[in-house]
Amino acid sequence: MIYYIGLGSNLGEREKILRRAIERVKKIPAVKLLRVSSFYETEPWGVTNQPKFLNAAMKISTELEPLNLLDELQRIETELGRIRRERWGARTIDLDILLADREISCERLTVPHKLLFERDFALVPLKEIFPSFNCKFHGEKILRVKSSPVDFDLKLVACVDKNFGLGLNGQLLFRIPEDLKNFRALTLGHTIIFGRKTLATFPNQSPLDGRRNILLSRTPLKVSGAEVVGDVENLFDVLDVAEKNFVVGGSEIFRELIPYATEIFLTVVDAETQADVFFPSVDEFILRDVKTFDGFEFRRYTR
Ligand code: ATP
Ligand code: MG
Ligand code: MG
Repeated sequence: MIYYIGLGSNLGEREKILRRAIERVKKIPAVKLLRVSSFYETEPWGVTNQPKFLNAAMKISTELEPLNLLDELQRIETELGRIRRERWGARTIDLDILLADREISCERLTVPHKLLFERDFALVPLKEIFPSFNCKFHGEKILRVKSSPVDFDLKLVACVDKNFGLGLNGQLLFRIPEDLKNFRALTLGHTIIFGRKTLATFPNQSPLDGRRNILLSRTPLKVSGAEVVGDVENLFDVLDVAEKNFVVGGSEIFRELIPYATEIFLTVVDAETQADVFFPSVDEFILRDVKTFDGFEFRRYTR
């Protein structure tokens, strides 16, 4: 099933809380995060003498039953410090199921959310990630702010075979000079983000020069020339929204970051190889251009 979830926070470090909530929803077993909206600052609704909200929406796919998903969302609300006082009152985090690919009506859960169509603060982020969704807005004051994971302009770069194979036995499948040149031209002067196994494929197994190197690794390591962050929640705390941030592998890192990516550069080699790791599905992206060469092509995808 596909679900769209609305997020809201008006207490504490709102952008960090929203980013943490998104990461935690992503980590619910059996949930696949497909897409995240920008963050929007909105006026309180219903009970107006409280701080402004930050709102967002996310799209997930999961086989979880609706009530099980609701349980998981409420667990995350509690973990992130939500205390239920008055209805519509101030809160660190609210996670509501806005919409799903079927209607749900029971004591604990109504989907579409009962007030969805009255609330621009829910509709505006939803419409961003579901552009063909049919609704009208009511003129609420809503300001897009640059602090969502999608504002870090994450760009995924990889070289794959016809079946999106990425590597075998910890090695890259290909070393094509034109591709390496293209990789360098894209990333030089910018930030690259990679995992431990990808670091091991770099020359001398060392960070790449002329770029800010960020190693995403659960085991705390010291690597000269690279900053090490333990998880994606912390990654967003150290990234710069004014920078171009290239995610360069490997497969696990691509899988973790693709829901937040705005652009993908794929070199697709016209070959079928034996691979044991693959690039994730690009179904949520649109193929924008293709440049064909002898034996491979450069593809660029955006949302
Ligand atoms: P509102 O639902 O008007 O946005 P709220 O989000 O502040 O208000 P909560 O305290 O988060 O309300 O939730 C109250 C109850 O709403 C939950 O315990 C849940 O059982 C119920 N509920 C019904 N439909 C939904 C839905 N689509 N998503 C989340 N909770 C829902
Ligand atoms: Mg709510
Ligand atoms: Mg709620």
